[in-house]
Amino acid sequence: MSIYKIHENAKNYLNVFLEEEKKDSAFRYKLYKDDIKDIKIYAKEKHVSHLDEEELIADVNKRIERSQREVLELQDFIEGPLTWTESEKKPFRINRDIHLKLHGKPIKDNIYLYNNNFYYVKGPYSEQEKELLVMECFDRDRRKFERLTNRFEKQIETRNERPRIPESVRIDVWRRDQGKCAKCGSREKLEYDHIVPISKGGSNTTRNIELLCENCNRQKGSNIQ
Ligand SMILES: [Zn+2]
Repeated sequence: MSIYKIHENAKNYLNVFLEEEKKDSAFRYKLYKDDIKDIKIYAKEKHVSHLDEEELIADVNKRIERSQREVLELQDFIEGPLTWTESEKKPFRINRDIHLKLHGKPIKDNIYLYNNNFYYVKGPYSEQEKELLVMECFDRDRRKFERLTNRFEKQIETRNERPRIPESVRIDVWRRDQGKCAKCGSREKLEYDHIVPISKGGSNTTRNIELLCENCNRQKGSNIQ
């Protein structure tokens, strides 16, 4: 059995990939359209020098069509209405052509998208079992990093790297405090401040975080010391 994460931030990865594919596709198109002589260079590079000119044109046309089709497929996949929402609910198996591009090997049905990560699964498992393995892999990572964060939190804090406040909490706090300082109401230079500091056991929850302007935050800091 083999299961591992191949890529994080799959969305970004796919978008970069798509841009490259578009360029490549445009390049091939230009090659053919611009100058018939280039086709001979192309024939050498692609090892199809044995073809006559008509066959070469057909060959290039076929390759252009294929690459344009691949670009469209990839684009449909990335922009598909379900791709990202579905893959947050459960592992989403990606199709063979996209798979081939990502992994470079013609193995069927083994790459899954889950929570913006790509996973590779191999083994004699049913579809459902593979999905479960991906979910387990994701969960194992999550637990591992939670454990590591707890274990090394003190060291991390002494390096003055605060654990990041989750985006959803920041949004909630901003809404609750209506985008202004909770002490003086200023809308300038706002910061997210822990009411009970992390070092004293405070957590990254909406209830323990408030918006303060830079001034009020500095004052609060000096009062504690
Ligand atoms: Zn203030």
